[in-house]
Amino acid sequence: MNEYDSNKISELLRSIAFEKIDKIDEADCFIFNTCHIRDKATQKVYSDIGKIKKIYKNKPKPIFILAGCVAQAESSIVFEKSDYVDIVVGPQAYHKLPTLVESFIKKKEKLVDTNLNVDEKFDVLQHLKNKSSKVSNFVTIQEGCDKFCKFCVVPYTRGPEFSRDYNKIIDEIKLFIDNGTKEIILLGQNVSSYNYNNVSLAGLIKKIAKLDEIKRIRFTTSHPNDFDDELISLFGDEPKLMPQLHLPVQSGSDKILRLMNRNHTRDDYLNLIDKFRSKQPDIQFSSDFIVGYPGETDQDHNNTIDLIQRVGFSQSYSFIYSQRPGTPATNLNEISQETTKKRLEQLQGILFKQQLEFNNCMVNKENNVLFENKTRDEAQFFGRNQYMVPVFVKNDLIKAGEIKKIFIQNASRNNLYGKIA
Ligand code: SAH
Ligand code: SF4
Repeated sequence: MNEYDSNKISELLRSIAFEKIDKIDEADCFIFNTCHIRDKATQKVYSDIGKIKKIYKNKPKPIFILAGCVAQAESSIVFEKSDYVDIVVGPQAYHKLPTLVESFIKKKEKLVDTNLNVDEKFDVLQHLKNKSSKVSNFVTIQEGCDKFCKFCVVPYTRGPEFSRDYNKIIDEIKLFIDNGTKEIILLGQNVSSYNYNNVSLAGLIKKIAKLDEIKRIRFTTSHPNDFDDELISLFGDEPKLMPQLHLPVQSGSDKILRLMNRNHTRDDYLNLIDKFRSKQPDIQFSSDFIVGYPGETDQDHNNTIDLIQRVGFSQSYSFIYSQRPGTPATNLNEISQETTKKRLEQLQGILFKQQLEFNNCMVNKENNVLFENKTRDEAQFFGRNQYMVPVFVKNDLIKAGEIKKIFIQNASRNNLYGKIA
C-alpha cells in the first residue's frame, strides 16, 4: 500500500511543479513514506534521515517530509527525534501535501497533519491524472481495520475500516487501462471485508472482471474470518481471479491465536483452506507468521510448524514478534531472543523448502505468464505466472502486457526461468 500511496504522492506534488528524480544529492524536497508495522522499519526511518542530513551538510537544506504510519504514530515526538523534519503527514492526510508544501515554502513554519479523513483523501485522489503505464497496478479499495489484533498498530495508524465507492474504483481502473494495464491487485488491510452499499469484495471482483482489457485480478491482504461462500466460489467460477491467495494465519496454536485476538482457531483456518481447494483444486496459498509471540511455548511453535506442513505454502513471510507502542500486547513479557531466533530459523527453513519444492514442480511444465517489463540489463523479459511467481525469459519478441505460454526450464526459490512454449 505504501507503493500505491507513494505513487499518488508524487502525482500530487507534480501539481505544484515538483518532479520525481533519481539523484539522491540533487533534491529540493525529500519524502519518506514510512512503515510502523515492526520496530526495525521505524528505527530505519531515523537513521536514514541522518544519512540525508549528511549528504546535504554543505548544500541548501531540502524540505523534509515524513509521511506514512511512523508519521501518524509519532506525530507528537517527530520534531524532538529529528529537527531535520519540516512536515509530518499521516497516511489519510497526504492529499493535502501540495497546500502544506506551499505553506511551508512561504512561512517556513513546521507543519503536522494527521487527520483520519479517508473519504476526503480519495475524493482528491480521484482527480489526479494517471501517469503509470505499468502492466500490473495496485488499486486501494479499502483502508484501516476494526479487528484490533493485540500485536498490531494498523487500527491506530490507518484508522477504522473504510471501503471506497466501487464506481470510483472502476473509474480509477479505467484510467489505468488507458495506459495499458492488464492486471489489477486490489489493496487494503482487510480487503475481504470490503463493503460499499452492500457490494462485497466478490461483487466488486465481478464488476472488474467485466472490463475486457483486465485479464488478471488479485487481492491482498485478507483476514481468514471475512470469507463468504460467494467469495470462495469465485476462485472456481471467475477465470480472471488468479488461483493464488495470501491468507495470513500468524500462528498454528489455538492458545496463541486466542491471545492475539485473531478470533478463529487453527481448525477454522484449515477448514477454510479445504473449502477453497474444493472450489479451485489448483489454488496456492501464501501466509504471514509471527514467531515468538509472548506466551508461545515449544508446543505452540510445533503446532505452527504442523499447520505449515498440513497446508504447504507456495510462499510466505515470517517475522519475529515486535513490541509496538500503544498496542495491548506491548506490556506482555517477551520471550528470549535466543529462543525466537532459533524458532524463526526452523520455521523459515521449512517455508523456504516448501517454496523451492513448489517452484521445482513447475519445471518441464507450461505456465501462463503475463509479461511486465524488460530486466534492467535488457537481457530478459520479466513476467509472473498465475501463482505470482516471477518468470524470466530471454526473448526479443515478447511485448509488455502479453500473456504467453512459457515452458519452464529452471527454478530457484524465488524465480522461474523458461522459453516460449
Ligand atoms: N491484515 C492482515 C495483516 C496486516 S499487517 C492480517 O490480519 O493478517 C502485515 C503483517 O505484519 C501481519 O500479517 C503480521 O504477520 C505482521 N505484523 C504485524 N504486527 C506485527 C508485530 N507487532 N510484530 C511482528 N509482525 C507483525
Ligand atoms: Fe492488524 Fe490485520 Fe489484525 Fe487488522 S486484522 S489488527 S491489520 S493484523
